[in-house]
Amino acid sequence: MTDQHPPRVCPQCAQSDMTRPVSAIVRDEPGSPLATKLAPPRSPGAATTLGCATLFFAAMIGISAAMVATVLADVTSTAPRGSLPLGLRDVSVFTGIVTFLFVFVGVYAVFVWRQARADAQLRKAIVAWHRASERWQQLYHCARCDGVFIPGQPSVTPVDQVLMLLYTSEPSQRRVTSADATPS
Ligand SMILES: [Zn+2]
Repeated sequence: MTDQHPPRVCPQCAQSDMTRPVSAIVRDEPGSPLATKLAPPRSPGAATTLGCATLFFAAMIGISAAMVATVLADVTSTAPRGSLPLGLRDVSVFTGIVTFLFVFVGVYAVFVWRQARADAQLRKAIVAWHRASERWQQLYHCARCDGVFIPGQPSVTPVDQVLMLLYTSEPSQRRVTSADATPS
């Protein structure tokens, strides 16, 4: 397979005979030590959703709490017993139901809150990953210097530090001037 990319001049050795796009190295030499080191940034993973398990868990906790509350209310209450099964008092059943609702809503709210926090973190990670992937697409490797560089930038980064190069946020993206960018 031929690369459509024009040769890029390495900023360290100022030659272009041994430079190749990192994406081409990874594509052409899968499994090689160099391709492994230069692998594209890994995706942060898919978002999880609140499923039926969460609802079930919240309901179980709510029911357990309601049972405890009902028994406690029944033991401590002196109201006359009604005609309910197990001889439970109306007030105890009412306490149980209210307890269930509060605990169920409370537990579920905690799950929703945690989920919202995890979503926010994931969104941040995805933004960082997209930026790193874009940068990775521009990367070139110089076999003579065993380093990577983004055409137009003045320095070569050792292969071992490629992730640092990809994920370091540069608040002011260095502007590629027409002088040091070769036409593509
Ligand atoms: Zn070089």
